[in-house]
Amino acid sequence: MKNKFHIITFGCEMNKSDSERIAAVLQQMGMDPVSSPQEADLIILNSCVVRQSAQDRIYGQVKNFNKLKKQNPGLVIVVTGCLPGADKGAKLKNKMPGLDLYFPIAELVNLPAMLKERGLGLQDARLSGRDYLDILPRNQSKFHAFIVVNTGCDQYCSYCIVPHARGRLRHRPVKQIFHEIEKAASGGAVSLTLLGQIVNNYHAPDPENFLRSNPFSNHFAKLLWEINQIPKIKRIFWTAPHPVYMDDEVIQALTFSKQVNYLHLPVQSGSNRILKKMNRGYSRENFIKIIEKVKKARPGIALGTDIIVGFPGETEQDFDRTMSLYEKVGFDIAYPAMYSSRPHTASVRAYVDDIPGSEKKRRWQEFDKLMREITFEKNKKFLNQKAEVLVEEYKRGICWGRSNEMKSVSFASSRNLTGKIQNVIIKAPKLWMLEAELA
Ligand code: SF4
Repeated sequence: MKNKFHIITFGCEMNKSDSERIAAVLQQMGMDPVSSPQEADLIILNSCVVRQSAQDRIYGQVKNFNKLKKQNPGLVIVVTGCLPGADKGAKLKNKMPGLDLYFPIAELVNLPAMLKERGLGLQDARLSGRDYLDILPRNQSKFHAFIVVNTGCDQYCSYCIVPHARGRLRHRPVKQIFHEIEKAASGGAVSLTLLGQIVNNYHAPDPENFLRSNPFSNHFAKLLWEINQIPKIKRIFWTAPHPVYMDDEVIQALTFSKQVNYLHLPVQSGSNRILKKMNRGYSRENFIKIIEKVKKARPGIALGTDIIVGFPGETEQDFDRTMSLYEKVGFDIAYPAMYSSRPHTASVRAYVDDIPGSEKKRRWQEFDKLMREITFEKNKKFLNQKAEVLVEEYKRGICWGRSNEMKSVSFASSRNLTGKIQNVIIKAPKLWMLEAELA
């Protein structure tokens, strides 16, 4: 046993995409992935710090994996991602005794040298000095690829640690983005997820590389228009946009033929008082106007959002505003979170985390109940409707995938249709799954 690695990814899709770059580096070094940490010589934890609970999980995992060093004394344990990114001066490293390497993801290019010193890797991967985003990722899926368009964030929402973990906003060149998309498409990818902390605030450093015939002026809309022309690409989704950057061209881009029929637009709160304290840069009324435009441009579009309950000073009335906004917009899904105070953020400096945990939980549960009711009502409308499903998995005669509205769909099939886009008819809409039949 030597040169086997196992990566565990926490958090968002940006981290999943980063893990694909980590895997690419390790495979260039002649190392092989294994599915369990027990078989590995190198365990990499790609961390998330958005909530304290995610951070605590990393400490627990390092402690557990240290025990494996008894059977495999050469085992190397690494923590990368957002935790070391946000932990300036590496002060938290001493909470993880036995940890071998601790570096932010931007330093991925130095990993080969660090591993070589520890006797890992069969060959060199000369990357130092390069930007880690230049590394071509090793796509986990054969038919789907994550494409990072920008990283970092300058928005500084008061509760958010991301700008501290990932640094200032930087955009990838158009040329590099298309190079990566072409590689993914020639490797079989039919579906893309474009990623950025504020993906719709894309500004190309090399706008001269857009096609002359491109009719848009907004760089993100330009990007979407050109990706839409790539024959092999059949589906395009992007996350996460910020409401402030949903201008008319970006809204128009939602109507392109390959765009999924779904928009995930984080609102966080329905109360203007809380939105201001969050430094979100829009009001409830602005948000509703944007949604009206989106619905007009693409009638029937499914909508998702992120919600934070229990932000400092959130009154019952503020919370009711969030509930009423959610109902008014008619979102299909939300990812609700209880406020968790994070170091370095403006809200931790300016406000007392004064909503008790039990009250945050109550609000979360009340919101969750409303969300489930609305989701189920929305799903029922799909009964006997046609849907296009990109099949992601096949097990024991059942295909599972996502519809154009990004809803989970399952249907029986004698053939493994993984990677194919299949027409089905929805026969039994459930809360989190639409059961279907082949059309
Ligand atoms: S837009 Fe706000 S919530 Fe999103 S990453 Fe930037 S600071 Fe965080």
